[in-house]
Amino acid sequence: MEFKICDNCNMIFQYKGSGDVLCPSCTKKDDEDYEKVKAFLAENPGAGEEEIAGGTGVSMKFIAKLVKDDRITIKGQNNQGLTCKYCGISIQSGKYCADCKRKFALEPGAVRIDGTGMRFLRR
Ligand SMILES: [Zn+2]
Ligand SMILES: [Zn+2]
Repeated sequence: MEFKICDNCNMIFQYKGSGDVLCPSCTKKDDEDYEKVKAFLAENPGAGEEEIAGGTGVSMKFIAKLVKDDRITIKGQNNQGLTCKYCGISIQSGKYCADCKRKFALEPGAVRIDGTGMRFLRR
């Protein structure tokens, strides 16, 4: 067990060793916000980040994080120019296109994706 400082509220908490550095109460709030955003998107497909923030009261920063983590997909100007880091086709969210992600999933161990990009483990 390891103690860390919550990224969001600066409280010291016991870190489980994976995922975001967030204390249990911020994790719970994030999950609630995520549910709100998901529900809003279900009712307003195609809504942009600003609309979602206005409609749910969730911060734009959090919405951007959800997009980056590939938990939601937003069709908006903010995502223009986003391309797959591997094959370069344009994508809506995340770092890789669906095809590439499927390819990686089919070849476990062949490539590894982490914060700095992709690494080939075997050649
Ligand atoms: Zn916190
Ligand atoms: Zn791709």
